[in-house]
This record gives sequence, C-alpha cells and structure tokens, in this order.
Amino acid sequence: MVDARTIAETHEAEVARLCEAYAAWPPGVPVRLAKRTSNLFRFRDTANGAKTATTAKAAKAAEGASGANTVAKAAAAQQAAGLDVSAFGHVLRVDPERRTAWVGGMTTYEDLCGATLPHQLMPLVVPQLKTITLGGAVTGLGIESTSLRNGMPHESVTEMEILTGDGRVVRATEDNEHAGLFRGFPNSYGTLGYSLSLTIELEPVRPYVHLRHFPFSSAEACMEAISQIAAEGRYGGHKADFTDGTAFGPDELYLTVGAFSDVAPWRSDYTGQQIYYQSVRRDKEDFLTIRDYLWRWDTDWFWCSRPFGVQRPLIRRLWPRRYRRSDVYRRLVALDRRYGLSARLDDKRHRPQREAVIQDVEIQVERGADFLRFFAASVGMSPVWMCPLRLRGDRAWPLYPLQPGDVYVNFGFWGTVPLPAGRTDGYHNRLVEDEVARLDGHKSLYSTSFYSEDEFYRRYNGEAYGVLKREYDGEGRLLGLYEKCVRGR
Ligand SMILES: Cc1cc2nc3c(=O)[nH]c(=O)nc-3n(C[C@H](O)[C@H](O)[C@H](O)COP(=O)(O)OP(=O)(O)OC[C@H]3O[C@@H](n4cnc5c(N)ncnc54)[C@H](O)[C@@H]3O)c2cc1C
Repeated sequence: MVDARTIAETHEAEVARLCEAYAAWPPGVPVRLAKRTSNLFRFRDTANGAKTATTAKAAKAAEGASGANTVAKAAAAQQAAGLDVSAFGHVLRVDPERRTAWVGGMTTYEDLCGATLPHQLMPLVVPQLKTITLGGAVTGLGIESTSLRNGMPHESVTEMEILTGDGRVVRATEDNEHAGLFRGFPNSYGTLGYSLSLTIELEPVRPYVHLRHFPFSSAEACMEAISQIAAEGRYGGHKADFTDGTAFGPDELYLTVGAFSDVAPWRSDYTGQQIYYQSVRRDKEDFLTIRDYLWRWDTDWFWCSRPFGVQRPLIRRLWPRRYRRSDVYRRLVALDRRYGLSARLDDKRHRPQREAVIQDVEIQVERGADFLRFFAASVGMSPVWMCPLRLRGDRAWPLYPLQPGDVYVNFGFWGTVPLPAGRTDGYHNRLVEDEVARLDGHKSLYSTSFYSEDEFYRRYNGEAYGVLKREYDGEGRLLGLYEKCVRGR
C-alpha cells in the first residue's frame, strides 16, 4: 500500500513536471488538454479549419523567427498532442472519517465512485455519464438527480489546485486570497486555468435505491409536483433522495423519485436487454443497486443510443456489453460528424438537412411548463430529460448566476431535427436561446451557442470574467470564454 506522504510527493512532482511542460509550450500555439475522453458537444469539425489555420500560422511564425523548419514541426506536433495531464486522472485519497476525497482534476466519475463506494460514500452530485471528469464538471458545470438537495458539483468542492493561464499553481478556497478564482472557476471551461486536484465532500449511501415513477398528463401538474418535492423532500409518501424525470411530450411526463434503501425485494437490470428510459413508462417502481442507479443513464446515453440500432432486441443482443457505454456512442457520433456520413446519406435520399439540437437549459420551475410547451411546438424532439435543482449555498456563482433559493428545472435534449425549408443550421438552437432568454433562464455552454459577443458577456457576467482573466491569464495564453464556447475553437 502506498502511504499518504508518497502520494502527496508523487503528485507534487507531477505538478512540477506539468508546469515545466506548460512553460515550454510554444507561444501562439493554443493550449489543449490531451484527454482520452470528452463530453463536449462542440465538435472540432467545424472548428477544424480554424484550428488548422491557427496551427499553421503559429508554425509559420515560429519558422520565420528561427528560420528552422524543425521548430514549426515541433509546434504543430505539440498542438496535436495536447498538454499531457494523464497523471491527474486518479483519486489521491478518500478520507472516510471526514467524508472527503482528494481527487486528480481529470479523474472520471466512474473511477471516483469506484473509489468512494467501497466506503459507502459518494460525491454529493454524480453526473450520469461515466467519463465526465470532476474537473470537467466543475469548470463546465454538472447536474444530477441529487441536485435538488445538493446543488451542483462545484458546491461541494472545498479546495482546488489550479494551474493558471499565466503558469502559476495556486490553491483556491472559498476564503483565501484566490477566493475570486474559486467562485469564478465554475463555467470558465478551462479558460482561466486547469484544476489539477480538488478536495470534495462526500455523502453516505445505502446499498440500494428504491425508485418510483409517477406519471403526469400535463406539464403544469409535473412542475407543481417538483415544487412540492422541493418544499417537502418527498412525494406520494416516498422520500426524495433523488429526483429526475422524463417528458415524452407535453401530456406524457414521468417523475422518478428515488429513496435510499437497505433492502431490495427484487433488483432490476438495465445493463442488459431492458432499457431504462423505456421502463419509466411501463413500471411503477424499481430497485437498483446504488452503482446501477448512478450509471442508469450511461448504458444507453440516456436514449441517444437509439440511432445506432442498439435498442432493437436482436442488435442489442449482439452488441457487446462493454460497448454499451456513453463514451463509445459519443465516439461514433464524433466519427459521423467528422466524415459527414449521415448528412451525405440524407442528401442522397433527398431528405431535409437536419440540425443537431443538443443543449441543457435551466428554467425556474414556475416557467417550466411554458418552456415545455414552446419546445414541443418549435423543436418537437422527444424525450426531454428533466432534472430539478436548487443551489446548495446562499450565494450565486458569478459566471453562471442561478438565484440562490430558487428551484430550477434542467431540461436536457440531445438529438437532431429536420430543418424547415429555407432555414439553415442554427435555426432551432437560436429559437431555444431566445426562449431561454425570454423566460429568464440559463443555458449550459458544453454544446453549440450562437450569441453575439455582447449578449454572451451580458449573460455570463463578462465583467467578473474579465477581472479574473486579467488576473490569472493576463497574456491570454488560454482562449477566451467566448472564443471557446461560441466560436468553437
Ligand atoms: C448528451 C450530453 C448529456 C449531458 N448530460 C449531462 C448531465 O446529465 N449532467 C451533467 O452534469 N453534465 C452533462 N453533460 C455536460 C457535461 O457535464 C459537460 O460537458 C462537462 O464539462 C464534461 O466534462 P468532461 O470531463 O467530459 O470534460 P471535457 O469534455 O473533456 O472538457 C470540457 C471543458 O472543460 C475543460 N476542462 C476539462 N477538464 C478540466 C479541468 N480539470 N480543469 C479546467 N478545465 C477543464 C476543457 O478544456 C473543456 O473546455 C452532458 C453533455 C452531453 C453531451
């Protein structure tokens, strides 16, 4: 067994190595993390041209300056390789007494939960996709069915070790000299710095989760039930340790309320032939192990595995179990985007062009039914994931200013819809952005956005962001938030 001191010393040595690599990064070459997985939905295909151009420009500049071809080649290779952060992809320590964990910034929630569950502990919020990393969820925001009780992943972080854009390594906490960075890191998407390690709180779990699926025939009734759960912590006599829901349409919605349980009279399994999202329509209740509960959405990437045919019984039987994972499907989508396969097929068959509408938005529960009605009429995609949330603390986070105390519903929709004649890509996404603004909601930035720069920085607190950017990345070595999230670089 490796002792705590050795772990800390090894970590420090890795931090020093990364700082050196960062300092040696060729100026003008955009910094990228070399990560095995990603859950971003801003594919680099559209940005590919820009990326190649930037790289070529940087390479040419380097060549011109030194007159040496090798420098340019090295810069291009560096860009392609990215900054090696593989040393920060594991759990450093779990402290069962204090219920805390010290975790590398690039650790996936699959590995994180794998380390905490043997201690009957879990992070306060566990995003549903196994390869979302702790650092990714904190800098890019996260949410899950404990978010009504526990807020968002960044709200249970007590300390972050951050490699800032200007090359320093700082420890940021709620109340030290880097408190501004600590509060401004969520929703900065790695444009202020990279979290190398984080200390987080954990909460105790029971071995099982007892789920009940409640049907609603109107969005209004469903939103009222969410308000009731937020006020009382239970629904229909069932304790709400976990709450989320699925809308198949404005008149067919289900809320799934989960309570920790020490016993399970039976256990359902949604990693085999049965498909979780279909079951909420059919079954009134379920018992799952805590592990199966946490990953219930990952097996079929919510419902997004549908286009690959793996929800058809025969193909499902043949599709190896180890490939029933969100990261496998995401890689397939990335390949499709890169080579434009579906688009070419649609073209060949004279089908209308389709637009990817992949977004998560937060709307106050009182206006949730308005949003669902708009969505059904204007976008018409189904199902829609519903996840209620409320900030855990009583202060807003500057770059994603949800109001403390208010109950929001996160609506998640991930798919493609046909474009009406004469409309171009972005049409539906812009409608969504406008409606979210009209309803005074918020939109996550992991996918495509179409805001103008002025509007973007009005919505995402450009003033506070500018102060932090100057303080921690004065020379702009990292991209700006708008460049990264809207221009897709
Ligand atoms: C279909 C779909 C469904 C989703 N559903 C959910 C959901 O239900 N719940 C939820 O919580 N989220 C959800 N997300 C969003 C997801 O949590 C965010 O995209 C998150 O940022 C992904 O984290 P990642 O670790 O995969 O990071 P990546 O995709 O690798 O990176 C995301 C961004 O964060 C930066 N970054 C990564 N690691 C660090 C770090 N250590 N320090 C600083 N910056 C870093 C990267 O530079 C990049 O800009 C969903 C996304 C999709 C596509």
